[in-house]
Amino acid sequence: MAVLIFSGGLDSTTLLWFLAKKAEKIHALTFNYGQRHAKEIEHAKKIVDLARDEGMEVEHMIVDISSIRDLIAVGALAGDEEVPKAHYEDEAQRVTIVPNRNMIFLSIAVGYAIKVGDNAVYYSAHRGDYANYPDCRKEFVKAMDTAVYLANIFTPVEIKAPFIDMNKVEIIKLGLKLGAPYHLTWTCYEGKERPCLSCGACIERTEAFLKNGVKDPALSDKEWEKAVEIYKRTCKRR
Ligand SMILES: [Zn+2]
Repeated sequence: MAVLIFSGGLDSTTLLWFLAKKAEKIHALTFNYGQRHAKEIEHAKKIVDLARDEGMEVEHMIVDISSIRDLIAVGALAGDEEVPKAHYEDEAQRVTIVPNRNMIFLSIAVGYAIKVGDNAVYYSAHRGDYANYPDCRKEFVKAMDTAVYLANIFTPVEIKAPFIDMNKVEIIKLGLKLGAPYHLTWTCYEGKERPCLSCGACIERTEAFLKNGVKDPALSDKEWEKAVEIYKRTCKRR
């Protein structure tokens, strides 16, 4: 049994399929931290419904901590700044950092793990996050694991990030093999009706499917064509 921090994006959906296929019971937590749009929460719910239809044992909880928004309302995801149109690993993406986000999520998830008797908390940090998100780096995972152990020494819980050495292309490759429902995932940093295709998250997503030789199943043929064009243009600029 394990707790999973589950956003409804590509990485955590792959991790859900990865863990649930090993016949683990998963307690998935989706956080509403007052982010500018709640689209990913709706997508997370649909993905869990499908996981259950496929016989996986998943409990899902939407954790509403939106009252902390005013405390952390800076940048482009929690605050009012514009979402940058640049590659995911470009320094311009640092405006999308939500202050101390993973530390907050993991802390809450560990408390929950102890309550329900789980001994591990999983999250889907990966190598592509290194450039701009320090709380997705190996050093952080290791330090957090130690801190969590010391803070809960009578009821030990481990912090696990099994994708930490993988890039997005490798994660998608794994998920395609596992049959992860990528058509239901939401990645775009903008909360519009359809993905914008040009924010850092959209561009990284396009790159990952393109390098796996498949079309993004969440997009129409026309959108996919446009996404590839935007990705290629962005690569030239870098
Ligand atoms: Zn986007």
